[in-house]
Amino acid sequence: MDAHQLRLDPLTGRWVVVAEGRRYRPAAISLSSEVSPEDPTRPCPFCPGNEEATPPALETYGPTGSWQVRVVPNLYPAFQGDAPMVSVSHGPVFTQAPATGIHEVLILSPNHEAKWSDFDAEQSRVVMSAIRDRTEAHAHSKSIRYSQTIVNQGRDAGASMAHPHAQLLGMSFVPRELADEQAGFARFVGGCLLCTTVALEESIDSRVLFTNDHLAVLAPYWSSIPFELLVIPKEHGPYLHLASPDALFSVGEAITASLATIREKVGPVAYNLVFHSSPYRAFGNFHWHAHVYPKLSTLAGFEMGTGVQINIVSPELAIEVLTDGPRHLAVG
Ligand code: AMP
Ligand code: ZN
Ligand code: ZN
Repeated sequence: MDAHQLRLDPLTGRWVVVAEGRRYRPAAISLSSEVSPEDPTRPCPFCPGNEEATPPALETYGPTGSWQVRVVPNLYPAFQGDAPMVSVSHGPVFTQAPATGIHEVLILSPNHEAKWSDFDAEQSRVVMSAIRDRTEAHAHSKSIRYSQTIVNQGRDAGASMAHPHAQLLGMSFVPRELADEQAGFARFVGGCLLCTTVALEESIDSRVLFTNDHLAVLAPYWSSIPFELLVIPKEHGPYLHLASPDALFSVGEAITASLATIREKVGPVAYNLVFHSSPYRAFGNFHWHAHVYPKLSTLAGFEMGTGVQINIVSPELAIEVLTDGPRHLAVG
């Protein structure tokens, strides 16, 4: 890529700056760690044998006597209860509403050391089934309008626990990021934004990491951070919890392969993985997908001040590195 460019993210409607020249600044890219520091004096509440340290399980997966995935209520929930979403204004500026909802932890493996990048096909299948089942349970609740599944891996990505886990937050309102993506799908007239993206990227082939009958993993044209990836099932559908087993399980396996490739070609970086499925009972097109955001840079003043991201690794270079090796990338 020669000159710096503005690229439009059609999902969110935001411009990003792709500025590869800025990569040559000292310490432009720094490796955060996917490992979280631990307090050796405190036993891990997510390890087998310590089940009493969490609230009672909502669901367990695996043969009796041992579990493969365990879903528990979060001991420190951000959202709780089923009070109706009634916002109250106290004067002209102060508006509040109850933080109604559900906050669950999905313990993704009995193995304390494992990461999603290590999961075999069977483990990622159970993990994806658990995410599907819990999202489906949220869909039945009248007070929940949207459920967000996240994985924070590594302290630098916001993880407070080392044991592999995801979180599922069911909330009473549609958060801004999702409302922006819904608007992105609505703006795209004449088809589906992500179905079209997959078809175009496969024909261009410079930003595709993996593709098969069921899904594509891309470094999106509008990547706003280095090595950002977008995992898109080819089966069009708004809801993760209504996806076919083929689509669901291939997404789980593609996430394993993508994270293993990032670890191998870039390093053991911290990352966030977020799933986007349509808000419940919504009108309009949506196509569920997952974003992988490796943590290789921090948001600084410009990003905080403007909401505009400057990406110093173009998605084309990211795919070169991920498919070839870090030949052109100065990582320090
Ligand atoms: P993270 O901060 O991304 O590592 O997610 C870990 C989550 O586990 C946090 O949201 C904590 O509130 C939650 N948590 C910590 N200890 C427990 C526990 N003993 N039982 C259930 N949830 C817990
Ligand atoms: Zn553990
Ligand atoms: Zn689609």
